[in-house]
Amino acid sequence: MGERTSGPADGAAPGPGGFPEDWADGTRCVHAGLPEPAPGQPFLPGPVFAAPYHLDPWQGPAASPNGYGRPDNPTRRLLEAAIGELEGGDCRVFASGQAAITGLLLAVLRPGDTVLLPADGYFPVRSFATQTLAGTGVDVRFVPTAGPYPALDGVRLVLVETPANPGLDVCDIAALAERAHAAGALLAVDNTTATPLGQRPLDLGADLVVASGTKALTGHSDLLLGYVASRSAHLLETVTAWRTTTGAVPGAFDAWLAHRSLATLDLRLARQSANAEAVARLLVGRPDVTGVRWPGLPDDPAHPVASVQMRRLPGIVSFDLGDADRVARFVEASRLVAAATSFGGLHTTADRRAQWGDDTAPGFVRLSCGVEDTADLVADLTAALDAVRPA
Ligand SMILES: *Cc1c(COP(=O)(O)O)cnc(C)c1O
Repeated sequence: MGERTSGPADGAAPGPGGFPEDWADGTRCVHAGLPEPAPGQPFLPGPVFAAPYHLDPWQGPAASPNGYGRPDNPTRRLLEAAIGELEGGDCRVFASGQAAITGLLLAVLRPGDTVLLPADGYFPVRSFATQTLAGTGVDVRFVPTAGPYPALDGVRLVLVETPANPGLDVCDIAALAERAHAAGALLAVDNTTATPLGQRPLDLGADLVVASGTKALTGHSDLLLGYVASRSAHLLETVTAWRTTTGAVPGAFDAWLAHRSLATLDLRLARQSANAEAVARLLVGRPDVTGVRWPGLPDDPAHPVASVQMRRLPGIVSFDLGDADRVARFVEASRLVAAATSFGGLHTTADRRAQWGDDTAPGFVRLSCGVEDTADLVADLTAALDAVRPA
């Protein structure tokens, strides 16, 4: 499928994702998935809104990839090329992260198969596994992200989330890929928190990447998106067939917005990560905040693996303020922190996860650092924490 990979026009050796090897993240993001320059054409073509397309009366759908909007759409194809280039594989996008992850699980697993899922991972995935997946005859087992991992013999699929949302533990993808493959299992990595700039699971040996593009990848808090990426044509075919028959595809406008947002991913992550580092250092220095987690802190349990495996650190910091009341007063006292779920957006947000039925402590906060100026954010958080300091 030649139109899925864009290469350099001058013949420089393309990298694993179709880019020249020497392009760094910012350049890769700006150019990801764009068509070859053509006079009179935009940099990123606008969204193509179509359910059916004109067909060739004689050849029918064989004449063009565009026949009907559920199997394919040109705006979606460009976005898939872009994400595929960044992940270093081939990509299929879905209407949401949940659609991608549940789709992958249902497409790959059969009755009698065993799947390992993160015990501390995204809560709706765990609910889906116990409420729906287990009912199809799949043996669902949960393992903490940080391990220890059991023997993998007889396991069909291991899905890890690293860093895990919301606890931010990590696992060693390369080591787990080796163990999984020795046991004949597949390894899938949820790359939502890291994004493909934070780590490249396919380079580390994973068979599949799944992710929500709703969060930092697109980063403007204005759309839902998910994707699956892989280097295996067979796995991609299975996933594509699943998506075509179940129909959880993103609309053309959301796909276009997502692609437009990718160009600034490098810039957004750099500021978010810098803000998270400053916030984490502020929080660990305060006796009125407990349980601070950020994989970049030298004392964090995730630091040894994260500092080797990750290319950059996430903009999320988690901590505990003791109870729901103090969290609410903290957010109200802040001028910059919005109470909201999701993460990875331009605005700094705080989510008390327990309010969604998540199995976290009542005062547990997932703080998603936005792209505000670092000094302003630190000053605002300091003032808000001072305002709710326990007597
Ligand atoms: C948000 C999230 C999902 C689900 O994505 P949606 O786009 O909300 O459906 C899955 N995994 C992780 C780690 C997430 O943070």
